[in-house]
Amino acid sequence: MLRIPKRFLPYLLAVVFGLMLAIGYTTYRVSENSGIEALTDSGTRQLELHARGLESEIDKYSFVPNILGLEERILNVLTSPDPFPGPQNLANRYLEELNQQTSTSTIYVINTEGRVLASSNWRRADSYVGEDLSFRDYFQEALKGGQGRSYGVGTTRAEPGYYLAQGLKKDGKIIGVAVVKVRLDQLEPSWQWADTDAFVSDENGVIILASEPEWKLHTLNPLSPARREELARSLRYYWAPLPLLQVAQRQALDVGLERWALQMPGGVKGVNRPTDFLAQTRSLKDTSWKLTLLTPLKTVRKTALSNAALAVAGFVILVILLVAWNERRKVLAARFAAREALERANSQLERKIAERTADLIASNDRLKAEIRERQLAENTLRKAQDGLVQAGKLAVIGQMSTSIAHELNQPLAALRTLSGNTMKFLARGKLETASANLQTINELVERMGKITTSLRSFARKSTEPIGEASVLQAADAALFLLQPRLASPPVKVVRELDDCRVLIDQTRLEQILVNLIGNALDAMQACPRRELQLSLRLVGENCRLSVRDSGPGLPEEVRSRLFEPFFTTKPEGRGLGLGLALSAGMATEVGGSLIAQNPDGGGAEFILTLPLAAVKQNHD
Ligand code: ADP
Repeated sequence: MLRIPKRFLPYLLAVVFGLMLAIGYTTYRVSENSGIEALTDSGTRQLELHARGLESEIDKYSFVPNILGLEERILNVLTSPDPFPGPQNLANRYLEELNQQTSTSTIYVINTEGRVLASSNWRRADSYVGEDLSFRDYFQEALKGGQGRSYGVGTTRAEPGYYLAQGLKKDGKIIGVAVVKVRLDQLEPSWQWADTDAFVSDENGVIILASEPEWKLHTLNPLSPARREELARSLRYYWAPLPLLQVAQRQALDVGLERWALQMPGGVKGVNRPTDFLAQTRSLKDTSWKLTLLTPLKTVRKTALSNAALAVAGFVILVILLVAWNERRKVLAARFAAREALERANSQLERKIAERTADLIASNDRLKAEIRERQLAENTLRKAQDGLVQAGKLAVIGQMSTSIAHELNQPLAALRTLSGNTMKFLARGKLETASANLQTINELVERMGKITTSLRSFARKSTEPIGEASVLQAADAALFLLQPRLASPPVKVVRELDDCRVLIDQTRLEQILVNLIGNALDAMQACPRRELQLSLRLVGENCRLSVRDSGPGLPEEVRSRLFEPFFTTKPEGRGLGLGLALSAGMATEVGGSLIAQNPDGGGAEFILTLPLAAVKQNHD
């Protein structure tokens, strides 16, 4: 593909333009040359034809002077000592008759002095008879014994003609000259055929016959003044000024072949451009004349021009096709490049995808490993948490041991008294009273059993998977466990609870509530108004359990550290600082939360959010 930088474009255009001109010019030249060749061929034939015609025309009359030499009447007029008028008349009539028969212009006889003795035109007033033609070269030639042939313009009538002269002999001696004047101009029209012109020039280079009358008696070559003088004196062309034929340009192409630019007659010089001709010249037999045929080059030039135009048009079309082809190739190349770029981009994309996939697989593996580690950590944490829960429980139990002991000691003391009394009533036979005592004993034992059962269940270590818990049951259990503390000092408990099942172990929920309620009781201990409020609300798929007290509330520095393990404001031996940390941990573990706030009406509020069990089941 050819890609040309923009800055070379003007040069390229110049080269293309130059080529176009060169092709046009070359085609013009070649076409013109071949046209000239063709014209030369046909011109040669035509020239030959005209020349033959002219030669035969001249030949036709060459015998006439010889005939005169055989005629008695002619010889008589030349030899008679007194030729006038008898022999002359006879000779005149003879010549007149002969002239008619041979269709020549004039036939006449000249004596050795050059005087015309008899002529075919003797009847005319301007007859040659008596004229002195001794100066005529044809006469002089014939007198020498040769054949006088020349073209000349008649001195009497200024009529041009071809003169054929022959010496007339008697007894081997020249006694006179016979002359035949022939008019050849009847041939001229036949030369004007198919645009061509022709002329005949004599040995002096003077045009004597021409298809174009204006050219007649013009010279082809400039004549020197001496020669001009000489010709004028010979009266050969009478008084013709013999101007030079205006050939604007003359270029020799071959032997007898020239190219002429000739100012045609009728046009104003300078306005009428010279016409181009092919000039073919041939010598004529038996004379020193030359026949020139002029064929106009107009059609050749026209053909050459149209051929050049065709060649230029062809070249232009070729250039356009080349440009179009190049543009098409550019478009194809651009498309190919775009496709390649697309393929490259595709393969890059694929490579990137593969790399990303590999990265993703690696990060997936990493994540899996992290998840495994997290699970391990969680397990460890859970174990630790369980340990802590257990520790917390034990701590709570430790804290509560005094009150528990107090709680158990009371029924025990009552039991001791009642059992002693019952034995006495039995001994006395007061069975009803004994029975009533036993009933009371039974109730006391049941109550003690309840205390221990809840303690056991509180202290129990949870290892089972996450279970379900009843909020109401857990609240009951927690309140029951903390019953002694709720009684002294007395605390008003407000319960706004409905039963709902949440997703957490029953014991854990109980433990959380024991922690929260225990803390509330601790906070309210020194307060004049002690009110504990438990309320429950369902929010979406969660259960929100609020434990609110009427204590002093949570100062900011405490609230920000509430859930830190071992953060406590309680005196040593009373608090471990584990309760809230564990409770929050247990809530988060099942997807819930524990938050603390100071509500508008004073005191502190802990909100425990836990997922509803039913929802979870539904989701499963
Ligand atoms: P402990 O009860 O062993 O101190 P917790 O983690 O249960 O540990 O409680 C941490 C601290 O939070 C308590 O020492 C107390 O200062 C504060 N606190 C907890 N509940 C309340 C409450 N209802 N009102 C005021 N302060 C509270």
